[in-house]
Amino acid sequence: MSTHFLPGSGAVSPGLSLPISIEEAIDFVTKRAQALVGELVKKRGREEPPFLGEELAYLQGIKKIEKTDLGEIDALLIRHQDGYIIKINSSHHPFRQNFSCAHEIGHTILHELDRPLCVDCDEFRQTNSNAVIKAMERLCDIAAAELLMPEKTLKKYLAGFDLSISTIERLAHIFKVSIQAAAIRISQISTEPCSVILWKQCQKPRSKGFFGYFMRKPIYISDRIPSPVSRAFESNMPIKSFKGFEINDIKKRCQMESKAFGQGKTKYVISLVFLGR
Ligand SMILES: [Zn+2]
Repeated sequence: MSTHFLPGSGAVSPGLSLPISIEEAIDFVTKRAQALVGELVKKRGREEPPFLGEELAYLQGIKKIEKTDLGEIDALLIRHQDGYIIKINSSHHPFRQNFSCAHEIGHTILHELDRPLCVDCDEFRQTNSNAVIKAMERLCDIAAAELLMPEKTLKKYLAGFDLSISTIERLAHIFKVSIQAAAIRISQISTEPCSVILWKQCQKPRSKGFFGYFMRKPIYISDRIPSPVSRAFESNMPIKSFKGFEINDIKKRCQMESKAFGQGKTKYVISLVFLGR
């Protein structure tokens, strides 16, 4: 879900202002995103989703949104003298375009912050620039998630459903976001503890397994076929199973539900791991 950001367009400028911690920055972008959604709700007089990136962008003062084929890039933010332009990759699914647009709004919110981010600061307050870029991208994703799937509204919708893969599909459709974006957000705010794994097929010639990526923690786990994940991949149906995990140094068997999405080379499996079941 990474989105390219033009280096010339400013980021958080390291002026003489005091550095801000990641926690403070998360709080800032979240509150700004909530305020923007509040403004949209007031303007249109309707609280229900979807909250569209384009509508929010114009409220944030973005002058123009252009849809064009950007190849591998999700979106671009360009700063002109009289304001910002967002370019969005028109070859992507509209729901992915929606998140890309919201991510770029996140960059404009970071510009408002106008304080250097303190990431991995050493004793002389020098920061690792790669870590700062990664942190900024994460902050923009946090802003995008709050803009398109406001915690308060999503919680209300979640309360009406059992937690399952089909709930993620339904809510992704209602909020007009990708399955992956909905799965990550739902795993973060669900009252029932759960994790999400994104599985992809190994591309090495001799390996026929899958590798999984815990969306909230970058832990790689392998899964050899045949397995519930490979069955989900082949059948396109939701598959329920149990799998052993090590969570906070404790080994545990958890219920898991897996389903395949996408097609061809981009096909993947999402597993919802129920940590308490
Ligand atoms: Zn970005």
